[in-house]
Amino acid sequence: MATRCNMRCDGCYYYNGEKQFTQENLDPKAWRDLFRQEKNRGITFVVLAGAEPSLVPDLLQACYDEIPLGCIATNGLNRIPESVGYKIHISVWGNDDTSFRIRKAKNLLKKQIDNYEGDPRAVFVYTFCKDTIDEAYEAAELLASHNCKITFNMFSAPLNYSGNLLHTPGTLDKVRNVMIDLMEKYPESVLFSYYNSVVHTHKNSLYQLFSCPYPRMNPSVAFGLGRSFRQYRTDLTWDRAAACCVPDTDCNDCRHYAAGSAIVTSKLSRHTGNAEIFKSWLDYVDTYLAVWVKGYDKGENLCSHIEQPPGF
Ligand code: SF4
Ligand code: SF4
Repeated sequence: MATRCNMRCDGCYYYNGEKQFTQENLDPKAWRDLFRQEKNRGITFVVLAGAEPSLVPDLLQACYDEIPLGCIATNGLNRIPESVGYKIHISVWGNDDTSFRIRKAKNLLKKQIDNYEGDPRAVFVYTFCKDTIDEAYEAAELLASHNCKITFNMFSAPLNYSGNLLHTPGTLDKVRNVMIDLMEKYPESVLFSYYNSVVHTHKNSLYQLFSCPYPRMNPSVAFGLGRSFRQYRTDLTWDRAAACCVPDTDCNDCRHYAAGSAIVTSKLSRHTGNAEIFKSWLDYVDTYLAVWVKGYDKGENLCSHIEQPPGF
């Protein structure tokens, strides 16, 4: 939505690759026309993301007025007006000391809660990096005490990234245990399932486990994401070779929640081998409906143990 951001985080996907140099189109009419055109193409759900969408509220409103089902990914420093009724995903990367160190923002979680406490649009997305695994306890306790909804994300390397946020086999195992622990500790707040914890912390990436339906890796233009999904840039152009929900991410390290919510949910046929794996998959779908769809409440998980992805 914008090429600008009011933060500068280590490992940011936006400021990687060429898309950061695209020209900004700040004309709400141009965005409205694009969304009309997308609606005519059959598109019913949109995701508005980086750099920082809250810096362009007029564009958010123009989009919402045309296609009212969708989600905004934001750092939560600015409150997005209530008239924009999308789900809002607020990124949390650790406790406030860590946020200051890697995101250069002071008292970030407090500001995010001040902005979004009691807001049915809001879901806080905690990203597990290698060094911030234990800080999830502090963040989850605070968010749960304010009745905020939480889900989990995994740091996944941007292409050519070699910084120190990368996971190791040991940290993947540790994250899985912490995810399950927090899910059991705060069942009212944490939107997650056992199967989510397994597939996002597997030693193989989502791409290696399930392949990927996004156009960037899927040449098919038959019915499905390969045909329907487009990732527009700030100049309102799109590029099939770069189109996925987390462009410039290394597919072999892709464990991102947004990627999984499309990749795993599209693989029903891989999960019908037995009742337990099917229940696990239903929990996964239920989780992401609650994360992405406003007004959808997550049910209780059907499966309360770990099932491995079929074939692995
Ligand atoms: S808040 Fe988001 S867009 Fe802004 S620098 Fe951080 S990761 Fe990038
Ligand atoms: S990075 Fe994008 S193209 Fe690659 S596996 Fe993940 S979602 Fe698919």
